[in-house]
Amino acid sequence: MEQGLLSETEPVVALVDIAGVRASAAALRSAFEELTGAPVLHAFAVKAAPLVPVLRLLDAEGIGAEVASPGELALALAAGVRPERIVLDSPAKTRAELAEALRRGIAVNADNFQELDRIDALAGTGTGSDTGTRSGTGTGSGTGRGTDSGPGSGFGPGSDPGPGRSRLGLRVNAQIGAGAIGALSTATATSKFGVALRDEGARERIVRACLDRPWLTRLHTHSGSQGLGLELMTQGVLAVYELAEEINAAAGRQQIDTVDIGGGLPVNFASDEETPTFADYARALRDAVPGLFDGRYGLVTEFGRSLLAKHGTVLARVEYTKTTGARPIAVTHAGVQVATRTVYDPAAWPLRIAAYDAKGAPKAGDAVVQDVAGPACFAGDLLAEARELPLLEPGDVVAALDTGAYYFSSHYAYNSLARPGVHGFRADAAGVRFTTVRAPQTVEQIVAESGGDRPDALL
Ligand SMILES: *Cc1c(COP(=O)(O)O)cnc(C)c1O
Repeated sequence: MEQGLLSETEPVVALVDIAGVRASAAALRSAFEELTGAPVLHAFAVKAAPLVPVLRLLDAEGIGAEVASPGELALALAAGVRPERIVLDSPAKTRAELAEALRRGIAVNADNFQELDRIDALAGTGTGSDTGTRSGTGTGSGTGRGTDSGPGSGFGPGSDPGPGRSRLGLRVNAQIGAGAIGALSTATATSKFGVALRDEGARERIVRACLDRPWLTRLHTHSGSQGLGLELMTQGVLAVYELAEEINAAAGRQQIDTVDIGGGLPVNFASDEETPTFADYARALRDAVPGLFDGRYGLVTEFGRSLLAKHGTVLARVEYTKTTGARPIAVTHAGVQVATRTVYDPAAWPLRIAAYDAKGAPKAGDAVVQDVAGPACFAGDLLAEARELPLLEPGDVVAALDTGAYYFSSHYAYNSLARPGVHGFRADAAGVRFTTVRAPQTVEQIVAESGGDRPDALL
């Protein structure tokens, strides 16, 4: 408040705690370093915080990038993440996206058998595999391409792990069931992601698809985000490890040399405590799947929320207050545009709210049950409903805590509300220093991005 970051023209801002991000990255690295001597690539799930300076900060901390769209890939490259430290996962990769990833040497996890066929075809038409042995006997997927166009050994880490050579994997749905949040559970019996492992005949077909493609050296699984217990997560990894062992036995060599265990470590949104920790999860994995840590398998991780959530905060001014039906309501500038999931699904995504006075000091006063509303024009736009807080007044400030992942970085453009500015901060003896990560969106930009450059288009 002293430095005027929050103002009449910027009544909502987002903050990133730089030291906190570094600490989480270090905790992730050390949790796995302690358990395996094999190579581990930690790839941050870019969708959790698609901000170039954040990706660069993580890259500086040894964390690569997991991307799932051309936009996310462009952000990772703009942040300077090296292609060999990027993993492309997406259930809907176009041929052009695949070709681009292979050209750049970005790791790709194919989502399904049809995608494997596309990779076969791309490789067969000059993606750098003219030395390949035409080893396929067909994947049974019906297109016929798999039978004669295997890309050979050109992609594999066994042949040449140098840059420009994509590591290729297959995403598997271990079908272990749902966690607490259905929409974010990716390992259900009918999930849209990956190749189902427990469907009739699926296991044999996966093994066959791998044997037909010597360059397929990774298996990938990601069982869901938030709401999954460690138990369920480790079960998913165990299922994929067992599949890797089966494939390697059938191949008579260590064809699958890397298991990508995805992300999904849940975040505690109820207090400042960071539980479970990366170390908790790593130990649970080692206990449940010891063979994964005996040095034979490289690992890829794809954590998002657990790296960033605790290190972001949204601050918003209280513009007006009122009492309606005996309920005090504070109308603030933070709502659905920065906290979309919380507003639409408050039971699954409750956020802690902290109250401050106009000078930024913790707000004093008895707790009063009140609503903290956002600025959008629909009744459900509430950051918190019936929450006990000191009675808010105009000019006060509310903070939505633990919003570093999937909140302000995933702006929702409802009501043409502007994307707020994002500022990193460092605190030391000299005070608090802010640096802008993303400038606030201007109304001119909103107009330009809304067809403002072609007003006559429909006349
Ligand atoms: C979303 C996603 C992640 C990250 O999940 P978190 O819960 O943020 O850790 C990792 N991998 C894949 C494939 C994802 O879709």
